[in-house]
Amino acid sequence: MRIVTRGAELRGLSRRARQSGMTVGFVPTMGSLHEGHLSLIRRARREHHRIAVSVFVNPLQFGPKEDFTLYPAGFSTTVDPGPLAEIWEGAQRPGHFRGVASIVLKLLNLVEPDALYLGQKDIQQARIVQSMARDLDIPVRVIVCPTIRERDGLALSSRNVYLTPAERGRAPGLIRAMREGRELARSGVTDARRILARVRGTLRREARPDKIDYLALVDPATLLPVTRVDRGGAFLIGAIRIGNTRLIDNLYFRSRQGAKGRA
Ligand code: AMP
Repeated sequence: MRIVTRGAELRGLSRRARQSGMTVGFVPTMGSLHEGHLSLIRRARREHHRIAVSVFVNPLQFGPKEDFTLYPAGFSTTVDPGPLAEIWEGAQRPGHFRGVASIVLKLLNLVEPDALYLGQKDIQQARIVQSMARDLDIPVRVIVCPTIRERDGLALSSRNVYLTPAERGRAPGLIRAMREGRELARSGVTDARRILARVRGTLRREARPDKIDYLALVDPATLLPVTRVDRGGAFLIGAIRIGNTRLIDNLYFRSRQGAKGRA
């Protein structure tokens, strides 16, 4: 492993690898590495000769009330990801996805990887980066990897350490409620309102969230709300607050009836 802290050095290493016929996979992170990040790194290692992993806490993607307020001196150009950046996570965290898209583009320009590995846990981030790559003709394959979970279902996140033991006990209620929605869809229910009502009920009972930021059934590509879960499936996405900790998660599923009806 080589640790590099300068962009030019990173680009040199990556270019030399590709010039000698190797492929390069890239995993961007913000540190606090856990098994979720490691799963992306392992997948990238299986598929490429060389892997670049970045650890960079991006000042640009934190809103004024979040951990960082500093912007690099002289930095003024950013990527506007469009309407997808304004909904769900974007509505809760103004400017967040502009920051994400900008830093990912910078890193892609430094590493010039063949493929970029992102986690499904942050599905909106993954869709925004996929759109950016398509819209701006960035020659990289964007690969979305499954969410890694604790045994009780809680999605791994660097934020989980902020949960008190009592809050940690409530946290898996988020995925339990989502899985119940999946079961309902698999049993043939296609109506989004019905599925969401059930999920919300279980969520309130089991996670007892201090706030539900959003809970929605959305189109897998556009992330816009759907009224029915059909053959193309849907993502159930959600963000809640338990105490001072904000948790997000999502689950992809299809309706059995929808799958049959259109097959
Ligand atoms: P972060 O350091 O939190 O910005 O995350 C870096 C990358 O790891 C992003 O692509 C995340 O989607 C991904 N990631 C975070 N948590 C998980 C998880 N539990 N399972 C899979 N990927 C994850």
